[in-house]
Amino acid sequence: MTCELCGKEVSKTTTVKVEGSEMEVCEDCKKYGKEVLTSEKKNQSTKQVLQRIKNKKRTSGSSNKYEEKIEELALDYSERIENARLEDDLTQEELAKKINEKKSVISKLEKEDMRPSEDLRKKLENTLDIKLTEKIERTPTKTSEKTEGLTIGDLIEEET
Ligand SMILES: [Zn+2]
Repeated sequence: MTCELCGKEVSKTTTVKVEGSEMEVCEDCKKYGKEVLTSEKKNQSTKQVLQRIKNKKRTSGSSNKYEEKIEELALDYSERIENARLEDDLTQEELAKKINEKKSVISKLEKEDMRPSEDLRKKLENTLDIKLTEKIERTPTKTSEKTEGLTIGDLIEEET
């Protein structure tokens, strides 16, 4: 490589800014210019990586929150409805009337042909004095675990 300032052949040149223009110079001529930070490029990708980590964290964070809170319709919701209805000595039609729904709705619910909407579920719960939801325990997925322990290094390696 040749120094663009003094013309000396050197094994390694440094990029410096001299009077506004970038030049490849030798160690001796470095002092005449301002070293161009070739890490500018690196900085940018680090920023991008950081941004990506932030995004990942936000995603996993919110999904974890969701998992913690989650109340899901019980798997045996249809049985619960039917049992409670029979305990109250109600026909499907009578129960339907109580909650202002069609008999077919009750029938479908008890056959697991239909999942109740939140509104319908609450009506059933209140009327039959039962609970149709189950709290699902938060089970951290492998993916979120991986994200938690992810370092910038990991992401960079992932990229190459
Ligand atoms: Zn030089």
